[in-house]
Amino acid sequence: MNTHAYAAQNATSPLTPFHFERRNPGPHDVQIQILFCGVCHTDVHIARNEWHGTTYPCVPGHEIVGRVTGVGLHVKKFKEGDIAAIGCMVDSCRECENCKEDLEQFCEKGATFTYNAPDKQSPGSITYGGYSESIVADEAFVLKVPANLDLAAAAPLLCAGITTYSPLRHFKVAKGQKVGIVGLGGLGHMGVKLAKAMGARVVVFSTSPNKVQDALRLGADEVVMSKSEDEMKKHLNSFHFILDTVSAKHDINAYLVLLKRDGTLTQVGVPPEPLSVQVDSLIFGRRNFSGSLIGGIKETQEMLDFCGRHNITSDIELIPIQKINEAYSRLVKNDVKYRFVIDMGSLKKTS
Ligand code: NAP
Ligand code: ZN
Ligand code: ZN
Repeated sequence: MNTHAYAAQNATSPLTPFHFERRNPGPHDVQIQILFCGVCHTDVHIARNEWHGTTYPCVPGHEIVGRVTGVGLHVKKFKEGDIAAIGCMVDSCRECENCKEDLEQFCEKGATFTYNAPDKQSPGSITYGGYSESIVADEAFVLKVPANLDLAAAAPLLCAGITTYSPLRHFKVAKGQKVGIVGLGGLGHMGVKLAKAMGARVVVFSTSPNKVQDALRLGADEVVMSKSEDEMKKHLNSFHFILDTVSAKHDINAYLVLLKRDGTLTQVGVPPEPLSVQVDSLIFGRRNFSGSLIGGIKETQEMLDFCGRHNITSDIELIPIQKINEAYSRLVKNDVKYRFVIDMGSLKKTS
């Protein structure tokens, strides 16, 4: 099906209107008209080839919520008219050890990411993401959005939500623990809401003085201006867990030393340049430095259901697709409250 979209044609040009072909739904596929798509900082990294590996044209977008417009013969979970969501993956091998353990993001043969990934369904082509009018995916990778959640504000759960939920769960964040969230952007503000809902005492580390009031409103118990050495020092050796969502180069050691004995810092932000770890910051206190990548499909549904029960969505700025380049510039300046979401109905105006 001919599909309208917005694409980056190279690393330096703005995103512009683009047309391409989506496959017709196969027996296990769900076809979705996209209503809303969140704007992740990963979209900027990839559209601008900051991680070196972008194939152009590139249609970003992996926080997708929409309405089902067609289903294949064998589809059981969805019918036409249902609300459905797609996150960062649309397929995986489903046979390897990691897939069998519901960790498709670590598929040994390589998960098919929602955009900029080789498309196994049509060899030789790459996947195109959610800055488009519709998408087709196997029902095994399509999720259900709890009915009580606002659809536009739920879209960012599909990446920012699961990327923060998964490590918080894996490292068993619980009531009574002191948890740090570094960077109050799309991921960070979801981290605050989720860690708070899990019962933790939450401290936000930010470089933006104008975000203090918002951090408290979002549920933080305390906000630390990370550029102030004095403020940082007060928290030495005190955290059970820290989640670092920062998208640019920064000093990781300044946070590692804030962990208690055996505490863990999990890196989810992906700065284009390497971060350097001082061994001292790890060995004194047997501290752990780890990383985490999105979450599996089963856990993504668990996260959505958790958000439904706790009434958690993202704080969003809804934009038409025509403002996407402005949104990218603002994201890079740490100026978003706290996730841009594209109202995909706006695409019709340029199609
Ligand atoms: P975002 O909305 O731009 O938030 C990033 C935040 O990091 C900013 O708001 C800012 O918070 C802080 N920050 C930015 N530059 C900084 C600097 N130079 N020094 C210190 N702090 C800085 O981005 P996002 O969408 O949340 O994504 C964050 C990162 O996670 C990106 O690198 C993205 O690619 C990555 N990501 C990873 C996964 C995964 O699976 N691991 C999934 C999704 C995204 P303050 O203003 O509060 O300082
Ligand atoms: Zn993302
Ligand atoms: Zn696999």
